[in-house]
Amino acid sequence: MPVTDTPADRISLARVVMSPAKIGARSIAAARSIRFASAPAIATPRVMAKATGFLYLSGGALCLIALCLPQRPGVRVLAAAVSAVLSFAAGLALLLQGHRWPRWWYHLFIFSGNVLIALSVYDGGGGRTSMAYASLYIFVAVDCFFLFAWPWACLHLAVAIACCLFSLAVVKEADFGQVLLIPGTLVVAAAIVGWLVRAAEAAEIDTLTGLPNRRGLDRQLAAAIRETAAGSPGIALVLIDMDHFRSFNEREGQAGGDRLLRALAKVWRPFVGDGDVLARYGADEFALLLTDVRPGDVAAAAESVRTAIPHGQTCSVGVADWELGDTVSLLNARADAAMYESKTSGRNRVTHHNVNGSSEAAELTRAIKNGEIVAYYQPIVDLATGDVVGVEALARWIKPGHGMVVPDDFIPQAEISGAIEDIGQVMLTAACAQVAVWSKVHGTAFVASVNVCARELRNPRYVDRVRAILVDADLPSSQLVLELTETAFDGDADAVVAALEELHALGVRIAIDDFGTGYSSLSRLDRLPVDVVKIDRSFVSPLPAAATRAPLIAAIIAMARALDLTVVAEGIEHPYQAALLRTLGCQRGQGYWFDRPCPADLVDLSSRHAAISPTRDVHAEVPVDLRRAAV
Ligand code: C2E
Ligand code: MG
Ligand code: MG
Repeated sequence: MPVTDTPADRISLARVVMSPAKIGARSIAAARSIRFASAPAIATPRVMAKATGFLYLSGGALCLIALCLPQRPGVRVLAAAVSAVLSFAAGLALLLQGHRWPRWWYHLFIFSGNVLIALSVYDGGGGRTSMAYASLYIFVAVDCFFLFAWPWACLHLAVAIACCLFSLAVVKEADFGQVLLIPGTLVVAAAIVGWLVRAAEAAEIDTLTGLPNRRGLDRQLAAAIRETAAGSPGIALVLIDMDHFRSFNEREGQAGGDRLLRALAKVWRPFVGDGDVLARYGADEFALLLTDVRPGDVAAAAESVRTAIPHGQTCSVGVADWELGDTVSLLNARADAAMYESKTSGRNRVTHHNVNGSSEAAELTRAIKNGEIVAYYQPIVDLATGDVVGVEALARWIKPGHGMVVPDDFIPQAEISGAIEDIGQVMLTAACAQVAVWSKVHGTAFVASVNVCARELRNPRYVDRVRAILVDADLPSSQLVLELTETAFDGDADAVVAALEELHALGVRIAIDDFGTGYSSLSRLDRLPVDVVKIDRSFVSPLPAAATRAPLIAAIIAMARALDLTVVAEGIEHPYQAALLRTLGCQRGQGYWFDRPCPADLVDLSSRHAAISPTRDVHAEVPVDLRRAAV
């Protein structure tokens, strides 16, 4: 459902949308900050609050404990205790509320940390006590290199060293040994922390745009979900996918595409508030994690992002608000479903995932958990010999008190809600295990055909999942066929094609299902890693009555064979259809004539030799043009 422009939205839109001049200025500042002075991405407001708060708290607590123990003469216990209590209180406040405070306040916290430690060094009255207090400067050094960009961190470190030396000088302890050791330790510890933090986060940064990558966002999303589940204000995930990015790339070249992606990161950065995260999620997909959201904010922010695109490009946006029980993958799946809906309903729009409208999705999720989704199997027959060469696994929902629900009634909804990923896993696991058993029992390498949709293939973990399932089932990859329909390639298909290529390299075979019902099918076949073509049953079932379909089938078979592809005809319901298809050169067939899909224990894997031996002369029964097509 496209986002409606309610008065509330308009008000909050005004709050979110900035003037072009302001956006320009902030964009330039943001772009500079990517390269020269970016703070570690890991330093989100929550992490900053926790790290700084914990250091203040520990510093205060350590001093208080130390003050409870016997003191050397000259220590100003009361003054030192005041500093310790102040530090402890600041730590508590930071832990509880620090994530709400502006980033620049942390410069003040670092500075006041220096002052508090300097006072403690002074209150130590010189000697070992002051030296012990001076060791607390290590907290400052570590914190500033963790929180800030290198220039700021170095400045804070310089101030810390100055405060340290000054306070030690006041208590007459800044002779040569201390000058070298304490500041030297600070510099080394700070440099190592700064380097480690940046090295660790390099794996989470997209080098092209300087934004967090999917891994980086997922980590921050998980943290934000934990906070929200614990009672913090709501969060929302906005997924943004460029429309027709592939054509743009083809037109402008790879460098032009890269320029556009960098420009997008630059244009969108100003919309990212404190605590929010803008990430590059995939090739041309971005994600915006919004935190502390108020009603209306999300819709307005998503709309602003959509309209702020340069170079006359457009994008499709999907939004999902976090709902109780949402995990990272569920929230992702809901935003992805909304984005997909934007794509399929005309692109260049925002769709908000509506949880209330999807009680069916919740029911499906429950059904998957309860094992109500099961695999039925339909044999696939070699039309030359009649042997069963494999089975197609077809999902069935055995709904208690309702009976059986067929896939057409729940797979489309599952694709939108994301539940298809779990259904796919259930089906793949069941089919691989079952076919491995049948293959061993019958001594024949049966093939398991499993349906898969684009959404599953777009999941970066899908290929690993398939690999693991094959290993668990002890099924060679050559005995698995993944069937996907041509519509899987509509829209941006790069991720789908990449996954298919990886699966193909693994030895898994790929089938184009319902062939002939999509568009531009022929041009795709030689560019995709496809091994099998399944002719849609709408071509088969009218045979022989709609004889005009036969030349088409003949053409599909001829073309597929020329490309060295195996052809399977679906929906064979009559013996003459099987015979005609065999005559046309179709190698395999599937349909009610051989068997309906049924549970594993009812599957008949014996030869269908009798079913393919024509008892009557097929050619005598079919119209003349069919015979011509068969030649
Ligand atoms: P499909 O992959 O093209 O599966 C073939 C469909 O044709 C099945 O319908 C099967 O029962 C039906 N069929 C087989 N032989 C005949 C015949 O002789 N006559 C007629 N009229 N129909 C025949 P089903 O099981 O209802 O599945 C419908 C579609 O749902 C499947 O089409 C597939 O696209 C999708 N689907 C089924 N299971 C899964 C799954 O596990 N994952 C995904 N992503 N999609 C699935
Ligand atoms: Mg299929
Ligand atoms: Mg099909």
